[in-house]
This record gives sequence, structure tokens and C-alpha cells, in this order.
Amino acid sequence: MHSITPFIGQVSTQEQDEWIKVINTHSKNCKLAPIGQLSENEKQHAEMAVVANPDPTQLTLLPKLKWVQSLWAGVETIFAADIDPNIQVVRLTDPQLAESMAEATLAWSLYLHRNMPQYRAQQNQSMWAPLPLELPQNTNISVFGLGKLGSLAATRLQQNGFTVKGWSKSKKTIDHVETFHGNAGLTEILPHTNIAIILLPHTPHTENLFDEELLNQLPKGASIINFARGSIVVEQDLLKALDNEHLEHAVLDVFIQEPLATDHVFWSHKNVTVLPHISAPTTVATAAVIAADNIDLYMENGTIPQAADRALGY
Ligand code: NAP
Repeated sequence: MHSITPFIGQVSTQEQDEWIKVINTHSKNCKLAPIGQLSENEKQHAEMAVVANPDPTQLTLLPKLKWVQSLWAGVETIFAADIDPNIQVVRLTDPQLAESMAEATLAWSLYLHRNMPQYRAQQNQSMWAPLPLELPQNTNISVFGLGKLGSLAATRLQQNGFTVKGWSKSKKTIDHVETFHGNAGLTEILPHTNIAIILLPHTPHTENLFDEELLNQLPKGASIINFARGSIVVEQDLLKALDNEHLEHAVLDVFIQEPLATDHVFWSHKNVTVLPHISAPTTVATAAVIAADNIDLYMENGTIPQAADRALGY
């Protein structure tokens, strides 16, 4: 099968061109092009599309669409859109993405564990004041979400000496990581968490999960790292917990509104570290090969890769 595959994305032209170039180079059969360059006839026959944060209305231009290859790991905006529920949504599962996220969780856990925010603040005041050294084994890090990203992150943190726990929907087994699941598991894990790392998908069940009630179940002085999606944490409740010093620090890479508004209180809060959604960016070189292989397999024998579960939302 040699047909034109549409690329639909709300990304810069430069980014779009790079994806198209690398995927076309790696694919044996695919000829990917921006949807705007397809003829009416080509749109009428397109069975698959490559998408990167697509405008959902553009998907409705493809009446024969069976599946989309997302170049993003999170697919909640596609599921939330009013599109044919039979369209399979294949999210990006790239081992490099998990590696990058594991590295980020380690980097920012060490940032908190070795008191870097406090030393930065002290430096601003020319203050020489050593803080006591905590051993990593005495720091409990809990990873919320033990999927492709969370499970490798948990292992990486454990390998660096931290005491690591993890929480998921269904029961998981990870070497040297104590795991919990479901609502009962959440109640158990929270009081034993010094650093909470959120790596859950955004679904109706996880939206606003980290609210005042849940944050208050963390011990006083705990910190939070949100690398998943902004809407999983209730911003006002987090601010309250930071302001009343129940929580020590929040490292936030994701926000309800991105880019974060320039006048948002997070920017200037002394106990918040703001990152511009950079914890695990997609690497074009590796992700394009995965997308190209998936497209080729479909073109060869009609196999659609395992898709995200619309009912679960991830
Ligand atoms: P995944 O493989 O789908 O794993 C999701 C994990 O969350 C699973 O362990 C799942 O439990 C758990 N989970 C889902 N709903 C739950 C619930 N209601 N209660 C308890 N646990 C629940 O996802 P992933 O690839 O690891 O990615 C996670 C998220 O990271 C993505 O959805 C995306 O939003 C975010 N992300 C952020 C960046 C960034 O740069 N900041 C980059 C990539 C991805 P089960 O194992 O039982 O199913």
C-alpha cells in the first residue's frame, strides 16, 4: 500500500517538517505530508494519521480514519474530543521517553533531597548555613503511576539509594519497590511519602486527585513533583499547603494552562520551582522510528498497534 498519510498537529512548521522528514526517511512505505497538502481524494481514503496535539476537527476531515499514531504519550485531549469513538488512538511508547523521565525524576529528587532550593535562597542572602545531610535511604519517594514512565523512574530512584514506593490502579510488582494500588493503597502510601512524584495520566479519575484532603495526608515537610498533567493537582489547594508550610516544596513541570501565565503566583513563590514542560520531551530521532515501524506494519499486514483504552482514558 503506497498512499499519502496525513500529519495533523498543532506544532511549529519547523517541528512538523522535522517529524515528516525523519518519519519518511525511516519508513519503507509511508509518505507523510501535512493534511493541508492532501487532495480531497487522498483525505477520503486515509485510514491512518500521524498526530501531535491535533486539532480534533481536522480528524473529522478523514471519513475512513481507523487509527492515529500520536507522537505524544498523553492522549487525553484526543479522547476528550468529539470524534468517532471507533478511531483507535495509539500513544507514543518510546523507551527513550521513559529514560528521559527516569533521569528527570532522579535529577529533581536529588534537587529536593540535597536542599538545593534552600541553598539557592541562602546564597541570595550571602548566608553560610550548612543543613544536616539526610541519607537517601531515609527519604521515602512515592511514585504515583507505575506505567511505562513511572515504573522505570521508580527503579532508577531505588538504584540511587532512595526508599521507593509506588502506586497504581492495578497491582504491580517492581523489584525493591513497595507497591500499593487502588483507594486503600493510596491511604496507606501517602503518610509514608517524603517526595511524591506524579506520573499518572490525566483521566476523569485522576483529575483534581491531589486536592486538600489528599495533600494533608502527606506528612508535614513533604514535597511534590508533578511531571504528569497540571489538572491532576488542585492549584489552590497546593498553594494553601505550601503557604501553611504543610508542604515544603513543589517542582511543577505541567500546568492547567500552558504556557503558565506570566502573572501566575507560582512564578514568584519561594517554594515552587517552575519548569516549562521539559521533564521528558519526545526525542524525534527515536520516536520517529517507532512511528515509522508502526505505520509500515499496518501498511504491510493491517496490524494496528495496541491502542490506548478509551474507557480507562489512557
Ligand atoms: P501509562 O503507561 O499509561 O501508565 C499510567 C499509570 O498510571 C499506570 O500505572 C496506571 O495504573 C496508573 N493509573 C491510571 N489511572 C489511575 C488511577 N485512577 N488510580 C491509580 N493509578 C492509575 O502512562 P505513562 O506512559 O507512564 O505516562 C504517564 C503520564 O506522563 C502521561 O499520561 C502524560 O500525561 C505524562 N507525561 C509527561 C511528560 C512531560 O514531559 N511532563 C512526558 C510524557 C508523559 P495501571 O498500571 O494499573 O494501569
